[in-house]
Amino acid sequence: MVKISRLTSWIKHLAKRRGSRIFAQSARMFYFHMQPFHKLLDRMFTSLEEFDAGFTFPLVASIADKHQDYTEFLKSYPYEIAIHGYKHVRYQHLSPKQVEQELYLATKAFQKNKIPYKGFRAPYNNYSEATIRLLEKFDFLWDIGIGYQQSYRETYHFFNFKFQNGKKSTYTCIPLCKWSDDFMIDKYNFSDKQIAKALTIQLRKAKEVNGVVMFDLHPIRIGRREYINGLKLFLEQADKHNAWVPSVTEAVEYWRKHKSWKHDAPVCCLLTGDIDNFTFWDYLRRF
Ligand SMILES: [Zn+2]
Repeated sequence: MVKISRLTSWIKHLAKRRGSRIFAQSARMFYFHMQPFHKLLDRMFTSLEEFDAGFTFPLVASIADKHQDYTEFLKSYPYEIAIHGYKHVRYQHLSPKQVEQELYLATKAFQKNKIPYKGFRAPYNNYSEATIRLLEKFDFLWDIGIGYQQSYRETYHFFNFKFQNGKKSTYTCIPLCKWSDDFMIDKYNFSDKQIAKALTIQLRKAKEVNGVVMFDLHPIRIGRREYINGLKLFLEQADKHNAWVPSVTEAVEYWRKHKSWKHDAPVCCLLTGDIDNFTFWDYLRRF
């Protein structure tokens, strides 16, 4: 009885804080997590390997630390891992000191678990001014979330963030395309073929200007049986367009040195996919 009343009051608390939408989202996440995470990743790795494509996984550090079995599994493949915060929280709600603490804990957890990292994407692509400043202090090579802001959408080139005093960030930023899998699947109910088509349209736009296009394809969605073909079909198209599909670090390092894409590719495509949770229980713990 005690447990049930505690659960009821927790549900009431959630409803009050976030409204009823949160229940729909939680139900969706429960359903999504019914396919074990390593299977989702496995399907992605098979497609990526077929096309010799890179992939970068921004991973929540506390989750990496908690599930070392999953982390080791991910590390055993040749794909890049980046920092996606210590906890999955909105930095705009935190003080500069608290953001610094989050970044400190995240880098420490990555070092402890021997996960090499060069880059960062903030949870929810949500940046406070302090976050943007602190990325320099923590010496990141690149950031892949600031570029989600409206002003960078539909742009196809690396950039450096410009601070108010006119100084430019030492780290490289990359525009993030709005056609993420949550947008296509949760909002528009796209099929695998529609996903591949939408991504290809964006790839073509970047190709027109010899630019770069970056997508956020979360393993929790794109790795599912019913959507994985979307990734495969898109990789076929990328191949036909002679796109270069490396990890983010490879692309940034190559660009800094040569100001062009490897093999003089006409376009660079960066596939990224945030890992916020490995299990449904991690998801619930957010609240
Ligand atoms: Zn996230």
